[in-house]
Amino acid sequence: MSMRTTDEIRIQDLEVYAYHGVFEEEQREGQRFYVDAVLSTDLRQAGSSDRLEDATDYGAVCHTIYETMREEPCRLIERAAQKTAEAILLTYPDVRAVTLEIKKPEAPIDLPFSCVSVRIERGWHSVYVALGSNMGDRQALISEAVVHLKQENCCRGIRVSDLIETAPYGGVEQEDFLNGVLEMETWLSPFQLLKLLQETERRAGRERSIRWGPRTLDMDILFYDDLILEDIELTIPHKDMANRIFVLKPLCQLAPGKRHPVLKQTVEELLTRLQTNMGSG
Ligand code: ATP
Ligand code: CA
Ligand code: CA
Repeated sequence: MSMRTTDEIRIQDLEVYAYHGVFEEEQREGQRFYVDAVLSTDLRQAGSSDRLEDATDYGAVCHTIYETMREEPCRLIERAAQKTAEAILLTYPDVRAVTLEIKKPEAPIDLPFSCVSVRIERGWHSVYVALGSNMGDRQALISEAVVHLKQENCCRGIRVSDLIETAPYGGVEQEDFLNGVLEMETWLSPFQLLKLLQETERRAGRERSIRWGPRTLDMDILFYDDLILEDIELTIPHKDMANRIFVLKPLCQLAPGKRHPVLKQTVEELLTRLQTNMGSG
């Protein structure tokens, strides 16, 4: 298990003259913006070695912020902040999360004020996704979905378990499934991730019909960090995962020691318990 560090690099009031704004005059004349960035990154290695190669180069980070802010005018500083945070996460892999604040002291407000700003936090989250297919070329549908995710900037470090052949679940008469689990990091929120997975299912030709019925591709979120979420649209961890060998087996290949945040048992323990209860191997 990796320990989360509380180390930070802080950049304060980086000045950027740029052209963000809703008003025509702002887009034409431009104005000063100030950017604060707090980067979460482990500083131990650099702290021990004193070598620049072991450190996140904050000078370079300043230039990345500057260039992203100057690259393309946005109407909203919300948009500029998001683009800049994403550029930092993409360019500096050791930065696990970034808090970014964009201040606009000359914003067009006809009242006295010192500054308006937006502040956002973005970071890499560790997720596990169950994959299943029982229609068409199951193997190809799954690998195309993986390729699709690999092309997205918001996903990195994708690993896929071996795929296993499984008899259908839930009592509907249908073909056997091919099942596996995918591990990755994403900066998407849980709901954004659900949307991306549903879009990927649609690309594979999935039509929503009967629950547990045949489908070209099914992608369920198993874990999102150690988040516990209960919403009508989304439950994390997946509510039935501990009862499914076809989920636990491939998951155990990738993350045997990962602890279920509600059941408090590791994936390996859950799998062993389920196999024992079912009296099989
Ligand atoms: P099961 O969730 O029991 O495996 P299913 O995958 O066949 O069943 P779907 O028809 O694919 O069910 O999805 C039904 C709804 O489940 C989705 O529209 C989604 O909003 C919701 N859902 C709840 N929790 C999750 C989750 N962790 N991952 C994916 N979808 C979820
Ligand atoms: Ca499912
Ligand atoms: Ca599903």
